[in-house]
This record gives sequence, structure tokens and C-alpha cells, in this order.
Amino acid sequence: MNYSRDDIEALKASLSITQVAERLGHHVVRGKFRCPYAMRHAHGDRTPSVSLSESKGLFNCWVCQDVRGDAIRLVEISRNLDFRGAVDWLQAEFFPETIPAPGTSETHLVPNFAAAAPPIKVVKVEPKPEIDPILRAKIILNFFEKLSPIEGSPAASWLVKRRIFKKTWESMRLRYITDYDKVNRELLQNFGIEALQKAGLFNENGNLRYYKHRLLFPYLDKKIIPLYFQARAIDNETQPKELNLRGTIPFPFNLKILDGNIGWVYLCEGCVDTLTMIDRGFPAVGIPGVKSFKTEWANLFKNKRVILCLDQDDAGRAGTESLLEVFKNAGIDAAPLGAGISVERFQLSEGQDMNSWFGGKR
Ligand SMILES: [Zn+2]
Repeated sequence: MNYSRDDIEALKASLSITQVAERLGHHVVRGKFRCPYAMRHAHGDRTPSVSLSESKGLFNCWVCQDVRGDAIRLVEISRNLDFRGAVDWLQAEFFPETIPAPGTSETHLVPNFAAAAPPIKVVKVEPKPEIDPILRAKIILNFFEKLSPIEGSPAASWLVKRRIFKKTWESMRLRYITDYDKVNRELLQNFGIEALQKAGLFNENGNLRYYKHRLLFPYLDKKIIPLYFQARAIDNETQPKELNLRGTIPFPFNLKILDGNIGWVYLCEGCVDTLTMIDRGFPAVGIPGVKSFKTEWANLFKNKRVILCLDQDDAGRAGTESLLEVFKNAGIDAAPLGAGISVERFQLSEGQDMNSWFGGKR
């Protein structure tokens, strides 16, 4: 059969990449699964490296350059099929009713959606924040003023268990949402639903997004004003554990130590690891995830020597490689933690992060 480009696009548009991955036998957990080429990975890809983007309909392995693409490509790789074979497989799996009877010449890949709604596509499109940065900053500042200190909140014992103590949570201005309803209501009174949604704090239902994610890590500028934040759930069930504020991340976490003076900086993945290092007395900055470092941030590291402390997993190692390149291009010395140290017990073991290395408990 010959498929038109429109047929192919219609087919892709009516598929959920997560369902395709599952139908292919990949074990998808929280949008990730193990690389089909696990043997290329250091530890058989024990920590899954392939992530799915349901909204874009794409998959991407952090390590393998050739393991990425759309639903059709995923079928090609997983079933060792060519393009045509992959399209046929998808049609047979998801739209068997559209396969023409022998002797007929119908060649549509998917049912006529003018008559019926797409049967399986589940895509949540979140509105893009389009907001005046000054108003956004005002909202974030006002939000933080309504929050409680960590002392006396359930987050205190959670942080202590991770060996992050009072002097750190105070100096880094961590906060907790004690009275969710009150914060919700007062923000609505002050700014109105539209601005709060555009700023990324409120969801489509008109409520503050941080009902479960009540521990807040502010990204403070050099005047100690929060311009961005990440929110963390402290129970064991909530997934994802962290929620980033949507929209632009202005700078790394703990910006103030990037002061242009000569010195060392430890670059960590996530606020918890960064806070762990800060609590131990290390000059540390954090990025929300391995892929969230912006090239232009390299300039902020002027006069610093950077030690990269990303997680010891495939994503962390791939992130380390790309960050080394970014810093090299910016003329800044950077090296992974433990570079040059050949004694294995001094290095992070597989799956370890800075917090667990320092004895933090989950
Ligand atoms: Zn891979």
C-alpha cells in the first residue's frame, strides 16, 4: 500500500506514544523506560534512560544518539522493521478496522475522524505562560511572603533526615505551605485567576498547583528576592516528587555564590543535592535537571573552577559530558567530581547522588 504524507501525519496524530511504547512491551514508569539497546549502557540501563514526551509524541534516549524519534521510529527500533513495516504494524495494532479487505483499494491508515473522535489520543496541553516579567516577579514574591518558615512544619524533619539543617534552610529561605486554602484564596484576591495561571502558579481548574508539593525552594537573586522556585512533595507517594514553576528559569539555584571572585563551585542536580552540599560548607549551585542548563549561564561562572556533581546514572553522565563541553567553549575550567581519583570507594556508585553519598535517607 502507498501511504500519503497526510495519512502518516493523521496516524501519528491519533496515537499516544506512551501506549505505543507499552504495546511494544516496554515497561513505562513515569514516562520512562529502559533503552532497547541496554547493552550499550554502563549498567544495562538499570535506571531507565529513554523518556517519552506525550505532548510532542517523541521519545529520546539520553545516551544513544540513534534512539530517538516519533512513534513510527520507536516501532522500527523495537521490532527491527523498516518504515513501511512499522506503519503496517501500528495500523494493525491500533486501527485494525481500517485495513482493507483483500481485493479492495481503500488505503486510509486511520478512521475518518470527521465522523468519530480520535479513539486514543490523550494529550494535555498546558497553556504557555505569557506574562509581564515584572508582574510574574511580584506574584512570586507575594506568594513567598504568605508561606511559613520550615521550623515547626512537617518539612523540618524531612530535611533533617536528609542532613539539611536549620542554618541552611534559613539562609536559603526555604518555605512551607501550611494553610493551602488561605494562600490560594489570598493570591486569587490579589492577582486574579488569569495572571496567576499565566505566571504558572495556578492550574486549569483555578487552584494553586502546590497542594501536594508544599516544600518550596526559592531561586533567589543577588538581592535575596525569589524570582523562580521548585516545589517538592515530602510524602512517599506523590509523583512527580518535584514540580518546577513553568516558564523561564532565570539562573541557577544559589546564584549569590557566583560572584566573579576566584574559587571553586560545585554544580549539582536538583535543590536537595545542592542544599546537602551547602550544609556541608561547599560552595554549590544547582540546576533543576541535567538538561536545564542554559549555555548563556556559563558566563555567570567567570573565575570559577566548576566541579560537576550530577547523579551517577546514564542521564547524569550524559549531562556531565554536555556541560563539560559548554564550559570548555566558555573558557571555564570544569571537571566531574572524582576526576583523577582512581580509588573506587571515593567515587559515587551507580544510582547515587550527592545527598545519598553524604548519608541522607530517602
Ligand atoms: Zn540507549
